[in-house]
Amino acid sequence: MCGIVGAISKDRNILPILITGLKNLEYRGYDSAGIAYLRNNKVTIKKITGKVSKLESKLNKNDNSHLGIAHTRWATHGKANAINAHPHRYKHITIVHNGIIENFKELKDMLEKENYIFKSSTDSEVAAALLNYYYEKYNDIEKTIKEFMNKAIGSYAIGMIVDNDKDNLYAIKKESPLIIGISNNTIMLSSDIRAILKYTNKYYILDDYEYAKINYNNAIIKNKTGKQINKELKEYKNEDTTNSKGKYKHFMLKEIMEQKETILKTALPFIEDGINSLLIMPDLTKYKEIAIVGCGTAYHAGLVAKYLFTELTNTRCNVYLASEYRYQNNFLSKDTLTIFISQSGETADTIAAIKLVKSKGCPTLGIINVEESSMTFLVDKCLYTKAGSEIAVASTKAYTAQVTILSLLVLSHAYRNKNISKEKVLEIIDEFKNIKTLITPLLNNKEIYLAIAKDIYKEEDIFYIGRGLDYALSMEGALKLKEISYIHSESYAAGELKHGTISLIRKNTPVLCSATNERLNAKTISNLKEVLARGAKVYLITDEKIKDDNITIINIKKTSDFIKSLLVIIPYQLIAYYTAALRGTDIDKPKNLAKSVTVE
Ligand code: GLU
Repeated sequence: MCGIVGAISKDRNILPILITGLKNLEYRGYDSAGIAYLRNNKVTIKKITGKVSKLESKLNKNDNSHLGIAHTRWATHGKANAINAHPHRYKHITIVHNGIIENFKELKDMLEKENYIFKSSTDSEVAAALLNYYYEKYNDIEKTIKEFMNKAIGSYAIGMIVDNDKDNLYAIKKESPLIIGISNNTIMLSSDIRAILKYTNKYYILDDYEYAKINYNNAIIKNKTGKQINKELKEYKNEDTTNSKGKYKHFMLKEIMEQKETILKTALPFIEDGINSLLIMPDLTKYKEIAIVGCGTAYHAGLVAKYLFTELTNTRCNVYLASEYRYQNNFLSKDTLTIFISQSGETADTIAAIKLVKSKGCPTLGIINVEESSMTFLVDKCLYTKAGSEIAVASTKAYTAQVTILSLLVLSHAYRNKNISKEKVLEIIDEFKNIKTLITPLLNNKEIYLAIAKDIYKEEDIFYIGRGLDYALSMEGALKLKEISYIHSESYAAGELKHGTISLIRKNTPVLCSATNERLNAKTISNLKEVLARGAKVYLITDEKIKDDNITIINIKKTSDFIKSLLVIIPYQLIAYYTAALRGTDIDKPKNLAKSVTVE
């Protein structure tokens, strides 16, 4: 979702920095892009709908600039067209903006009364106009920024050029990430360190209600009262910065295949030295209840954990969608540990939920993939998933890494809680150590996934069913398919079908299912018979020895409950992938979706 890059340099043409930066942000999903830079002492603006390469081709070969800002937009207010694309300029002020100005309508009305005229339908142009309004009123840029922060409600990361101040770039931040990258004679601005890693790995993080005045050799950062803040200069050390697909056609396929390493990498710190390492996991015995909050795939990982916590440790656990949680009565209590799950660590709804829990003084734990992302600074404690950079919008290896951390957290709790013997824990740890052997045959089973994909790719409605843990997995399976193939897919608790949904089963409606719970499998199979009787085509992932000529079966190895989800999900991911491939969709960047959802 939306990206900002800015740069100012003494001796360097910053245009390649801006374009490279935008390209590095492309994976996040966007619909239009734009750039503003100083040329012959004037601000030149170029905006396009579509890809950054199109924007690049609009630049003149000989163009050279020492100061500029650039943006990839994920439209929230107004269509994805060139007029609404950023930068937005209002007289003296040119900005790029990530986030949402919630009171933009009221501000727009106020400015229109002052004879301001707007070209776009965006909230961001209103932000530019408001900044211009205060700038004309006070002729003082810092006072302008402070007034803006007082008046604008919502979230914003803003990069700004001021016409009468061509030696500086400005940054303003609230609730949308923004960092300042430092290198010799060049200073950069970005919503994500990865955009500028080619040029520097040293950076400052702006906090909410901070702003910065940046010239080519320093950045002065101040808070809302104008007090200068001395920031720690951070160094990004993560070696995994390659954005290459390698031998794969899509990042998604590459990332699915990488799971044979990423699961183990994530698990290793907690299993390498048996029980001792497992007990590095936070002690949950002091809590009466576990709450888990996330969005999309992260929410589904939470559902797996809910099953494990409740069934295997007898601990009450509830899972919430962050966008709901932040606005509902959560009966917050200090006896409840709230776990927040996010790949990017920047998900706006989840960040708001963390702030809510913290404001009541209740304990928080994060399960996050991106180190030093906004959430990692908010939670009391953080467990990192070691999935590496996930570029495809549809999450795969981040999901299994989240499930891995959660499963090991539950396992440690089961051990501390005496729900499980030491011997059994050691067996499960061995299963984790052996994950590559368990997963590789499933990853290599291309023929069967392709055959299923060929069977289903022309359908418009597909159902995923399961019971217990398998229900949680069916939700993730259905999400993967709809995200990338645009086929309508729904998941249902297998026993719930006949309470309405079964009326949607017609001849050849595909029904995908997993049955990996001895206690429930017979019941799930009966539900499959019900849909078969109504003409459905049925595909089953199971660890039972089932033979049925009417059902296409994918066998997985029998393992403990702690490992199962990591196996069942692989066929679901690959069926989704090959189905989307047959439909010819843009698998890595599905339409309208964004990788890191930084707006509400
Ligand atoms: N709300 C702004 C718009 O719709 C910014 C969107 C973004 O963050 O990309 O233009």
